[in-house]
Amino acid sequence: MQSNFNGKKVLMRVDFNVPLNAEHQITDDTRIRAAIPSIQKVLDGGGALILMSHLGRPQKKKLDDGSIDVKKFTLNQVTAHLSNLLGLEVKFCPELVGPKASQAAASLQPGEVLLLENTRFEAGESKGDEHLAAELAKLGDFYINDAFGTAHRAHASTAIVAKHFDAANRSFGLLMEKELINADQLIKATAKPFTAIVGGAKVSDKIGLINTLIEKADNIIIGGGMAYTLLAAQGGQIGSSLCETDKLDMARDLLAQAKSKGVQIYLPVDSVVADAFDNEANTKTVNSNEIESGWMGLDIGPEAIETFKKVVLDSKIILWNGPMGVFEMSSFEKGTLSLATAVAEATQQGAFSLIGGGDSVAAINKSGLADQVSYVSTGGGAMLELLEGKELPGVAAIK
Ligand code: AMP
Repeated sequence: MQSNFNGKKVLMRVDFNVPLNAEHQITDDTRIRAAIPSIQKVLDGGGALILMSHLGRPQKKKLDDGSIDVKKFTLNQVTAHLSNLLGLEVKFCPELVGPKASQAAASLQPGEVLLLENTRFEAGESKGDEHLAAELAKLGDFYINDAFGTAHRAHASTAIVAKHFDAANRSFGLLMEKELINADQLIKATAKPFTAIVGGAKVSDKIGLINTLIEKADNIIIGGGMAYTLLAAQGGQIGSSLCETDKLDMARDLLAQAKSKGVQIYLPVDSVVADAFDNEANTKTVNSNEIESGWMGLDIGPEAIETFKKVVLDSKIILWNGPMGVFEMSSFEKGTLSLATAVAEATQQGAFSLIGGGDSVAAINKSGLADQVSYVSTGGGAMLELLEGKELPGVAAIK
């Protein structure tokens, strides 16, 4: 990212898609904070800033009369917090494009920040509408994409708008640069052993990633709900655990593929099972292949933790995506938190560790070890697609 923005109006796509509570308060401002360095760099470089971002899915959650629920989805909910973080008064425009937006952008002075209304209030945003992109482009004379979390979408504000700026007048922001450098470090890594830890709810969500990993990793540790589909595919008795019954063949293929490539797959030998999906449920530890009906595996067991930890501590490159159990509930957080500790320890011993994906990020934050791993990515789907070797539309548009 360049540092001279003298006299320029910089149109910057950021990811301010933050969680909000019923009182419209921001419950986690990580994404806003992550964009501050780029914002500050433009202001320090003499530029004026026009910020745009989406927030939630307003087109999917319209009011009964078919209109946008402005109160629930307005980006104005972040204006005050952004002003506090920047130490200046951010202006808000209740329009993304149109006469008000044009006028607000035109009268903006160097050092000032304008936040436009939620990009997804416009139906054309998610469709990558050419006209909307052209209208957005008129607002600024330099375009920066710093929204890594949406870089895998070919939306008007994340990708299509970029073509209205020549190569000298468009760039990545600092966060995007950092994400791409770290992903590249992992993709190009040659040190061994390379261990991937994959968890979370569904095997179907992670199949692309696992297939890529089979080509690259030495070890793949699989935990979380998705492990039970794989255990079931091998004939295990998994009781009432999460299982994608239509994915059993795919799971068998995947295991066979890993075997033929010499990739070691680690599944949890034991599980903490519960008689309800509830933090207060009755629990016990059992063999993961012998779970009785009425009981469900909600965390990896102590023996699995020990095995997984040893593999992690012996690794030089570690990729982690997805929790080992229902870590949001304290009764089932131990597997995930233990692995977080192991990843931090391995990093201290010189391993490169990348944590990618929304829930793994929440898990590493919960463990308090986020600053003890090599890199924590802000993008879930975007990081996954990057690691799967796909070119992200938001990245291609800048290059
Ligand atoms: P994902 O978004 O696919 O990474 O999935 C994360 C979610 O998977 C978290 O909300 C976890 O609570 C959930 N999860 C992890 N392990 C299990 C499990 N054994 N059974 C049900 N849900 C799980």
